[in-house]
Amino acid sequence: MKQNQITAEILCVGTELLMGNTVNTNAAAIARGLAEIGLNLYHQTVVGDNPERLREALELALSRADVVITTGGLGPTYDDLTKETIAQVLGRRLVPHEESQRWVAEYFRRIGRTPCPNNQKQAMMPEEAVVFQNHNGTAPGCAVAGTGRWAGKQVVMLPGPPRECEPMLREQVLPYLQAGSDTRLVSRCLYFYGIGESDLAHRLDRLMRESTNPTVAPYCKPGEVMLRVTARVAEGQSAGALLDPVVEEIRREAGEWLYGINVGNLQTALVHLLLAKELTIATAESCTGGLVAQRITSVPGASSVFEWGVVTYSCETKRKLLGVSQKTLDTYGAVSPQTAMAMARRARVKSGADIGISVTGNAGPEPSEGKPVGLVYVGLDCDRCTTAQELHIQTMAHDGREYIREMAASRALHLALETARQMVK
Ligand code: AMP
Ligand code: MG
Repeated sequence: MKQNQITAEILCVGTELLMGNTVNTNAAAIARGLAEIGLNLYHQTVVGDNPERLREALELALSRADVVITTGGLGPTYDDLTKETIAQVLGRRLVPHEESQRWVAEYFRRIGRTPCPNNQKQAMMPEEAVVFQNHNGTAPGCAVAGTGRWAGKQVVMLPGPPRECEPMLREQVLPYLQAGSDTRLVSRCLYFYGIGESDLAHRLDRLMRESTNPTVAPYCKPGEVMLRVTARVAEGQSAGALLDPVVEEIRREAGEWLYGINVGNLQTALVHLLLAKELTIATAESCTGGLVAQRITSVPGASSVFEWGVVTYSCETKRKLLGVSQKTLDTYGAVSPQTAMAMARRARVKSGADIGISVTGNAGPEPSEGKPVGLVYVGLDCDRCTTAQELHIQTMAHDGREYIREMAASRALHLALETARQMVK
């Protein structure tokens, strides 16, 4: 069967997922992985730690998909019943798997603990299973082919803890599922800032509707849109030949908002650009409370471009730590373009960085100094300019405060990115 005709289904096992105590991140990780290798996914199910309901959910999934991928319930305790139940449905006996027994013993030796008899239960595998070694825990995963009524179907079982499930998926299961396929999927991710999803979709309407290879799909998050352009590439075919013309057309329609390709996010684009240009940056933040600095330092390599950032939440610290003048604060207020510019300039002067950025505003929930909720100034200072941008961030959401802070931090990162683009050291 061709890879793009295979259907998969996700079945997550765990009462904690049903109760809302654990967020089902495994389903999202698996779904993303399946999309990358071009398998069709039409259903996801969550079921508690109950063998009857698991059996029922599994039989339904097997009746409509070629491959069912499960997570959870592979642990050593009494409520971990996934393997037993699935083996039974597929008509497979559980047999001791010698290699897994050695892995489990070796795992315990490495962490300096002795295994208990329960752990050997984890080394029991359905007969004729393809076993996936767990590099981050004790429960191996496996792929098992069905027999009888379920001949031709396959179940892949993964452990529940995301730090075990995700590496096993990436390193072993996706390559396993993809083996034998004569096509591969290649994607370019285009990142946009300052344009809404509906506006972008409107501009690219025809392209998004008509493109089949590559496909163009939008994903949005607050203030940003990502377009994933994905081509199915046959053996010997060039991915660029399929992707480049579409990427060029998107550039023509919406290039002014495009800030990077395959860059991941604003902070990564900024840090990589600063590294390439050997520029440095410093931050002075008020209402974002360090979010801008946090996002910059989350990027590996940030230490070469970022040495210095302060949170000056009160007027007093804006004066004392940064050296913003009392006159500026008295005349214009803490939430003003003048204060934002003074904060950015003082951050740059004090740190010796090439770029200083600042954020000051009212994230709510109440107006302060007569300034409305959502009014934010983002300041920037470099050797060629000092500017401040005024933002009116409107939100009715209950998490408005967090939204305002995130949006303000994104604007600061984007302003720094645009400035750095035009700078030469
Ligand atoms: P289990 O393998 O069922 O014993 O699960 C072990 C732990 O992994 C659980 O306590 C959860 O915290 C976590 N876990 C299980 N399933 C998921 C899932 N689908 N998404 C995220 N975490 C999960
Ligand atoms: Mg469980």
